[in-house]
Amino acid sequence: MIYPWQQSQWQQFNDMQKNRIPHALLLLGKPGLGKKSFAEMMAKTLLCEQANDVACDHCHSCSLFQANTHPDFKSISPEESASMIKIDQIRDVTHFVYETAQQSKNRVVVIDPATRMNIQSMNALLKTLEEPAPHVVIILTAEQSLRLPATITSRCQKIIFHAPAEKVALAWSEDLTVEALELAEGAPLKALAMIKENQLTVKKELYQGLIDLAQDKADPLQLALKYQEMDLRFILDLLFIWVKGLLRAQLQAVHEFPFKKLKSSQLVEYSHYIQKIYEYVFASVNLNKQLLLEDLFIRWKQYVSG
Ligand SMILES: [Zn+2]
Repeated sequence: MIYPWQQSQWQQFNDMQKNRIPHALLLLGKPGLGKKSFAEMMAKTLLCEQANDVACDHCHSCSLFQANTHPDFKSISPEESASMIKIDQIRDVTHFVYETAQQSKNRVVVIDPATRMNIQSMNALLKTLEEPAPHVVIILTAEQSLRLPATITSRCQKIIFHAPAEKVALAWSEDLTVEALELAEGAPLKALAMIKENQLTVKKELYQGLIDLAQDKADPLQLALKYQEMDLRFILDLLFIWVKGLLRAQLQAVHEFPFKKLKSSQLVEYSHYIQKIYEYVFASVNLNKQLLLEDLFIRWKQYVSG
């Protein structure tokens, strides 16, 4: 599927097709912009027997693709949502790449997200990128190229995805709201998922909890307990947005700024701390979530208590 906000990226892909399709492509952009479905549409188009600018949807290759049984297509993702891509999965890719094409003129591999490979897997993939097999296209997705080694990114042609203008997103889905889009930093699919998972309520409650902490109406340990079953990344996202909002309010000298004792240097420090925890979560370090949450809330309470 190509979303309305991906037109220029699709054009970029079509231009590549007309010249020469690169051996490796890197789709870059925040989660929730539809990079994976774009990658799959690229794969389908590259494999299609009659494709011009986009897969025909009717040929034998397209029906194999739709049935998830195309022999010349391989899609790699972590087997469980929180885990890493296993080295065996990358070995499968290597094997697949050096076989002869069976059905189509091309073979395509999608690795989503490529940042979930560990060093071993990345090294295994690197060999494949260094010695590209003919008619093989490898498509990687990532949030930021910084999360991948330069040895990999330098071998990929990049397609960059941006959050669409608010009105484009709102026109795309009636279910979307401005509030959800803001929370998802403009990423429409992420915003939609948030609405479905009732995350806006979580946001309101968490922010109320932070206000209660400042007014001595809540206990940091109790608050940590309340969120320990939730996805830590989501809580960190919310805290980060909260801090950003406060920094903005301070800069604009908002008259009603609610936390008089809070210094902007503390907010910056807090945002760095949140980012540090992000890094741990992304690196899949084994974390004690309860302790981290307690620490986050205790720090907050200290800042606002002066
Ligand atoms: Zn087709």
